Amino acid sequence: MDATIARNTGSSLAGYAVCGGPDDPLSRREHPEAAHAYRTPFQRDRARTIHSRAFRRLAGKTQVFTHRPSDHFRSRLTHTMEVAQIARAAAGALQLNEDMAEALALVHDIGHPPFGHSGERALDDCLRGHGLRFDHNLHALRIVEFFEQRYAAFRGLNLTLGVREGIVKHSRDYTEAEHPELKEYLLDQQPPLEAQLIDWADEIAYLTADLDDGFESGILRVEHVIEHLPLFRRSFAAVQAQFPAAAEKMLVNEALKQMLGALVDDLIHTTKRRLSVGGIETLADVRKMGERLVGFSPEMEAERAEAKRYLYRYLYQSEELEAAHQEADRVIATLFRCLIVHPELVPNSCAEDVAAEGLPRTVADYMAGMTDQFILAQYGLLKERC
Ligand code: MG
Repeated sequence: MDATIARNTGSSLAGYAVCGGPDDPLSRREHPEAAHAYRTPFQRDRARTIHSRAFRRLAGKTQVFTHRPSDHFRSRLTHTMEVAQIARAAAGALQLNEDMAEALALVHDIGHPPFGHSGERALDDCLRGHGLRFDHNLHALRIVEFFEQRYAAFRGLNLTLGVREGIVKHSRDYTEAEHPELKEYLLDQQPPLEAQLIDWADEIAYLTADLDDGFESGILRVEHVIEHLPLFRRSFAAVQAQFPAAAEKMLVNEALKQMLGALVDDLIHTTKRRLSVGGIETLADVRKMGERLVGFSPEMEAERAEAKRYLYRYLYQSEELEAAHQEADRVIATLFRCLIVHPELVPNSCAEDVAAEGLPRTVADYMAGMTDQFILAQYGLLKERC
């Protein structure tokens, strides 16, 4: 069989990949289940995520724009699907476990509250007043462990240890001293390469997509991005030389596609080089490293960081989006206060959680699950009462 085809069918995993077979410790579930006749444990996790209610709600959650100027703007669901596509392709090229990478990508933003990062900050501010914190990774873990109820025998989705570890280690490192409840997730060890890959697939997806949506919204201007971002400038110039008669919109589309490709190529090549230089042959080698191995070359890393700074300054923190951030703060702070003062407005289905976790955490969990539209409707109904 052709080597490329072998990789794409997942039949050729490198020694440092997660094997993911039924006997792999990372395939372990809290509630033991018999092996499936024709699906791997990570394929089952992917299916469980796609069929979950929290996953469907991502369609109604902000990626960058809460009030999307048209249906072509990304939601957190379409962002998630873009991450999954990139993660699976890069995992295949690195001979990693593609099913695990895809399952991790699909679940990576499942804990995001309404209103994107503004919503996360606002909920965290509310909880700080009660000596608690809100963190979307830990909320994602609670969703897959408790809040999804699809099985008669247990709460949660009963995902594999490998996917739960990936959720915990997405985009940050927790310490056991700070979070003793996460002990099971090998906090003193690096995550598998499949999990390391997700952070970068996420970043590649949103850097390119947010430029696209930024242009589409009229907040970003092509000439300004060309002037400030060499990564985009190079792609745009190459495309312009190849298609001198193409309309600007088409040049932008092609340039973003090239930019995405350049980031993914660099990530794959740099990671391969690091694995080879480090003599990494097994998952155990990956785990004991002092730092994560998946990453960009120093030159691309500088350009990535520059693109991110640019988006913060000219898109996420732009005057045009400021009103949406203020709306997020106002809606979340008001509704949180209202539900704390009037706990009878919290759905009866949360009663058990209030008893176990206390009212502030339960209110935050309830609100974090809401879509943008649902929380705005609740705010509209209750703002006069609170
Ligand atoms: Mg994301």
